[in-house]
Amino acid sequence: MTRPDLPPLREVIARHGLTASKALGQNFLFDGQLLDRIARVPGNLDGTEVLEIGPGPGGLTRALLGAGARVTAIERDRRCIPALAELGEAYPDRLRVIEGDALAIDHRTLFAGAPHIVANLPYNVGTELFVGWLSTEWRPWWQSLTLMFQREVADRIVAPAGSDAYGRLAVLAQWRSIPRIAMPVHRSAFTPPPKVMSAVVHVVPADAPEGVRLPTLERLTAAAFGQRRKMLRTSLKGVPGAVEAAERIGIELTRRAETVSVAEFCALAKALG
Ligand code: SAM
Repeated sequence: MTRPDLPPLREVIARHGLTASKALGQNFLFDGQLLDRIARVPGNLDGTEVLEIGPGPGGLTRALLGAGARVTAIERDRRCIPALAELGEAYPDRLRVIEGDALAIDHRTLFAGAPHIVANLPYNVGTELFVGWLSTEWRPWWQSLTLMFQREVADRIVAPAGSDAYGRLAVLAQWRSIPRIAMPVHRSAFTPPPKVMSAVVHVVPADAPEGVRLPTLERLTAAAFGQRRKMLRTSLKGVPGAVEAAERIGIELTRRAETVSVAEFCALAKALG
């Protein structure tokens, strides 16, 4: 639970002159109950390590600290650092703030164990960070991901085969991990409100299917979804041996990429070696 003795976030923002910057994707959350709900998504955080990207004035950070986590927070906006330092004083030895660009920092090296990653991500860097966390060695160096995305991106992450939203991101997110939409978040919850709705996505790692290499899987999905309206006979031509491998394992070449399940893409990647 967020501590009731902390000053209201709006006051912190006013005192530190934290007017929201569009360029930095700043849409802040102030609702303590909503922030506590987000902090509960990864499960019991008491005594765990959490990596937070983009703490801003520290709304979600408060909720994570209140849930008992030790938080390492990476924030690019220098203006937020004094506000976060104040929060650190309220939770001695529990908050480490790193000023910098999360895209330029090797997050792995910051932890001895496997942290949970929790973030209300800046939309302009969210997908890039997410793809990076999913493309690491497996099992990954993190325990779970709890991330705010635009609803449309969240839908693409959890999309089942056969749906319009199904594509490269769904295969990447589902072939060796389990993503789910933990909660929708209305645009009016943010200050200022973005144009679109959002959702919190929760991802936990699973066992990787044996014999499947990520670069091969990515080449296949890039080719197949690059021409998603075309039959596999055509769209897979750019990947040497893929058409023959699909035939060999019984995937009909008249099908289109969006009908091919994650398990079938994995089987194809394995057959290609
Ligand atoms: N966590 C806060 C909340 O929930 O109210 C703020 C969320 S706001 C959507 C995104 C935050 O990410 C901003 O504070 C912004 O300054 C920060 N940010 C943007 N780009 C960043 C980057 N490349 N690395 C680290 N932080 C970044």
